[in-house]
Amino acid sequence: MSVSVLLGCWLFSSQIAGSLAAEASAAGPAMDETALDQIREAAMADDWAWQRLSELTDRIGPRLSGSTQLTAAIAQMADAMRSLGANVSLQPAKVPHWVRGEEQAELVDYPGRPAGASQRLHLTALGGSTSTPAKGLTARVIVVHDMAELKARAAEVRGNIVLFEAKFDQRLADNGESMEAYRQAGQYRFVGPAAASALGASAALVRSIGGADFRLPHTGLTRFKEGDTPLPCAALAAEDADLITRLARNGPVTLYLLLTPKTLPDADSDNVIADWTGREKPGEYVIVSGHLDSWDLATGATDDGVGVMAAAGVIETLQRLNLHARRTIRFIAWTNEENGTRGSQAYFASVKNSLQDQIAAIESDAGAGRSLGVGAAVNLVSLDTLRPALRALAPIGATALSRSDGEMGADIAPLQEAGVPGFAPLVDTRHYFDYHHTAADTLDKVDPQNLRSQIATMAVLAYYLAELQDPLPRFKSVD
Ligand SMILES: [Zn+2]
Repeated sequence: MSVSVLLGCWLFSSQIAGSLAAEASAAGPAMDETALDQIREAAMADDWAWQRLSELTDRIGPRLSGSTQLTAAIAQMADAMRSLGANVSLQPAKVPHWVRGEEQAELVDYPGRPAGASQRLHLTALGGSTSTPAKGLTARVIVVHDMAELKARAAEVRGNIVLFEAKFDQRLADNGESMEAYRQAGQYRFVGPAAASALGASAALVRSIGGADFRLPHTGLTRFKEGDTPLPCAALAAEDADLITRLARNGPVTLYLLLTPKTLPDADSDNVIADWTGREKPGEYVIVSGHLDSWDLATGATDDGVGVMAAAGVIETLQRLNLHARRTIRFIAWTNEENGTRGSQAYFASVKNSLQDQIAAIESDAGAGRSLGVGAAVNLVSLDTLRPALRALAPIGATALSRSDGEMGADIAPLQEAGVPGFAPLVDTRHYFDYHHTAADTLDKVDPQNLRSQIATMAVLAYYLAELQDPLPRFKSVD
């Protein structure tokens, strides 16, 4: 690049910065930034959210939609918010009720197998999977690496088991791009089983999405749209996907599979909504949120116990400081993020005719990493308006401001699509997918100091947004 181009860019960007600063200062009087410092300090001294997270994970445990534990978690959260003096309501939502059953798989034939030998595999059913016959099924495995290969081998699929062998790219994750790695590998979990079913497969397997090995299967939702025929499907531990891929290079591999999950009638559930009332505009809302449901294999400490408790910690921090912003800060513990987002849909339906009162929405659902700053789905002009909030987070090193046009959280996505500025704490996700949706998503994976950094980030940001003289301009986002 030539020097003149560089200079040109510099001049251009400094002119933009100047005009943005002028616009920002025209938006209203400067905010009392000492309040932001107090909030950060109080959040970093917080023990309340860590105690609530310990109770949620150790005493209540896994919280899949439709479970007794999710109902208990909702009651516990509502009580905790009431005891802080917040204005609490429960918002009903009917949620899917899928329950895991037995899950077994064995390699029963493959090239070079000693007579009588078989090998046990480690796998776990995907949410939405149907059952195999009660005695299981035995079929050949067709290994494909992408959708083009599935299409090319379509004639071999009928009656067989398709294995989608697409690796989670740990190199991306190691460099802070784990969400992109998840998106890339995740497409096979989301749509692969339905595609295999359309070609007449008897079952589908996907390589687990995650970076660390430890032969841990990672569950998650698969999608069957209207008109698709659901089939038995499971995530296979990465090591077992590798094993089958190696064996299949030398000839046919045959697998025995038993899965007995059930889909029961939809169950009653609720979002927990707790308002920390605004002192001037109580009918305008800045949302802080996380989801209270989790997968069933573990206690959902990092997905999303941390996120929902960080959001709850925002209310507790403001309560401790006796601070009320100009607008209401609304805590939401979403129900059913993992396998339906029905809580998100219920909330959106309740506010869709008064969206002008939804000022901004924050969701934490990216694990238990340290906060590095703020992810913001806002327009360019809003970035300068947000800088003072980031400055207040400098002592904890959470100063990055990353603008995006994408989803900041699955539950706030409908609000974002409707123009509500969306936010998330920008957290270190390099190790999030090591344990995501596995039996190892437990409390020991959470560093309390990281939880505090997420509370501080969300509390400073939420207070700042709720205190602005003029709300940020609308911005329609989401991929
Ligand atoms: Zn989550």
